[in-house]
Amino acid sequence: MSMNDQTIPISSGHLHPLTLTIRHIVGAIAPLGFEVILGPEKETEYYNFDALNVPKNHPARDMQDTFWIKGVTETVLRTHTSAVQARHMEYNHPPFRILVPGKVFRHEATDATHEAQFYQVEGLAVDKNISLADLKGTLLFFLKDFFGEDITMRLRPSFFPFVEPGAEIDIGCFKCSGKGCGVCKQTGWIEILGAGMVHPNVLNIHKIDPRKWRGFAFGLSVDRLIMLKYGVPDIRLLYSGDLRVVNQF
Ligand SMILES: [Zn+2]
Repeated sequence: MSMNDQTIPISSGHLHPLTLTIRHIVGAIAPLGFEVILGPEKETEYYNFDALNVPKNHPARDMQDTFWIKGVTETVLRTHTSAVQARHMEYNHPPFRILVPGKVFRHEATDATHEAQFYQVEGLAVDKNISLADLKGTLLFFLKDFFGEDITMRLRPSFFPFVEPGAEIDIGCFKCSGKGCGVCKQTGWIEILGAGMVHPNVLNIHKIDPRKWRGFAFGLSVDRLIMLKYGVPDIRLLYSGDLRVVNQF
């Protein structure tokens, strides 16, 4: 080696924050007995809506919310990873617990908090004696892992066609500890995900007897979790490919 040789530092690449966060979610929840399942991004209207008890006239099916594929009958870009729940229940007998990470699509204008594509991780557990307490325990276990031991959580009644009862899950604001600030819109709570007990109609559609089996389901928004944890102000930054953003993770 001569004195003139110069060492040029090569910066090694690393995983995107979306990938890192999906791995964090799966790594935290899978050890509770959940199997990771994937499904197609191009989905039939049946699995995306009908098999999940979403009525024919539901506004979610509207052209405003869903990308319908031109020229292909009853085919959509899936609007939620819940479509994979329907597929799994059709071909498997309970008990089962699955986690479904993946990309979903909504036909809407993009702004700081909305993108036409984003990532979800869906969870579904069906077994004989599952209750709302199991759902709450599973989610609190994950949220403590993700946001820290001190996180608090509450369930608020809500409606989704495929669960009954349905709930919005809020976490106590980690920025102001409940006093009220800009992050929590002065409420002390931050809405973080939707969940609930699997609707008996959904079990019936898949020939699973709701008198014998019960389940819970939840849908985590990966993008929202990243934005909250790291204070990312605009969802579009996660898809811009800007290395100044990506290299901060
Ligand atoms: Zn706050």
